[in-house]
Amino acid sequence: MKVKWLLVDLNSFFASCEQQDDPTLRGRPIAVVPMFAENTSVLAASYEAKKFGIKTGTKVFEARKLCPDIKFVCTGHKKYVQYHHKIIEAVNKVCPVHKVLSIDEMVCQLLGREQELENALEIGRKVKQIILDDVGICLTSSVGLGANITIAKIASDLQKPDGLVAIPQEQLVEKIGHLDINIISGVGPNMKNRLNQKGFFKINDLLKVSESQLQNAWGSIVGLRLAKEIRGEDFSRPENKSASFSHEHVLPPDLRSRQGAYQIIQKLVFKGCSRLRDDKRKAQALGLSIRYMDQTKFEVSIQFTESDDSFYLMREVEKAYRKVTLKKPIKVGIVLSGLTEPGVEQFSFFDNQKSHKLNQVMDLINDKHGANSIVSAAHLDVVDEAKARISFSHIPDLKRDY
Ligand SMILES: [Mg+2]
Repeated sequence: MKVKWLLVDLNSFFASCEQQDDPTLRGRPIAVVPMFAENTSVLAASYEAKKFGIKTGTKVFEARKLCPDIKFVCTGHKKYVQYHHKIIEAVNKVCPVHKVLSIDEMVCQLLGREQELENALEIGRKVKQIILDDVGICLTSSVGLGANITIAKIASDLQKPDGLVAIPQEQLVEKIGHLDINIISGVGPNMKNRLNQKGFFKINDLLKVSESQLQNAWGSIVGLRLAKEIRGEDFSRPENKSASFSHEHVLPPDLRSRQGAYQIIQKLVFKGCSRLRDDKRKAQALGLSIRYMDQTKFEVSIQFTESDDSFYLMREVEKAYRKVTLKKPIKVGIVLSGLTEPGVEQFSFFDNQKSHKLNQVMDLINDKHGANSIVSAAHLDVVDEAKARISFSHIPDLKRDY
């Protein structure tokens, strides 16, 4: 029996980091919160707190009712990112990390004899152990093994905390056939509803129909792909570098004006360009979007000759910004696309040597002294805004975001 993918999911990640840092928090119910307020929601609960029914999203006052002894800890974003990088480093020693799925999840591809069930399980045990040894005793994880990432993810969810579960294709029916289709990550409430209406309730229901029936039932490429993955197909291709960089930011109330939005956009453009230069890539288009209070949206795509120059792109954005309407903006975003291959330092005829130097100096100072040590004067008053917000799907970059 064989499995091709190994997925590592850290248990109660934020809470575990806190318990690792402060031994007095170990073995007791704790919850990580974004701020100390009764009406805020828990970001992560330790396993001791989960026993009381407290989980991500539980309100602080409810958590206190469920468990009067609970200790609240205010979140330390930078800390979690540091742990995240340490974990990757540790896992890499056992098996190279193929792809990072979120701040507390990563996958490794198993090759050759590693795919044999016994060997794969042994690698899983080693991965779990090296995280405990190298990063910290509180950082327990659940490892899942399967024919593809979707199945490996289901496997990792089957045993928490501190799990190790393999679902080779031959044991699929026995191990997960009886489970509800919503254990597939990617099947949200809407898709679940639609599938229920068509008679799909359990994983088994997906396995016993023909492919054309599947195709009719899902009605979307993504959905059909998920269904085929449950049957063991592997669509993963070698990771290539992302095709675009995007940054967005919800405007705080005092910046919900035409000028405020512009300042944040400038900040995002500078951030995006610094990322381009780090990767030695250039962009050929910039998408700008502004969402307004009334739910309408302004969107424009600006094309240009390949560039990584913050000042050049800002001049282009400035031109486009003249068309922006005078409504109350609440969110802005940029997408840099048409990216050139990474790592090739090209000299472009269109490079402006003066701003090239200026960009270099800015990067150098920000590298050495931390992000935002030097910024363009126009967004001086918003340097604290548009710092990356931590989330499970986006891992902030230590150098640029803090
Ligand atoms: Mg997790």
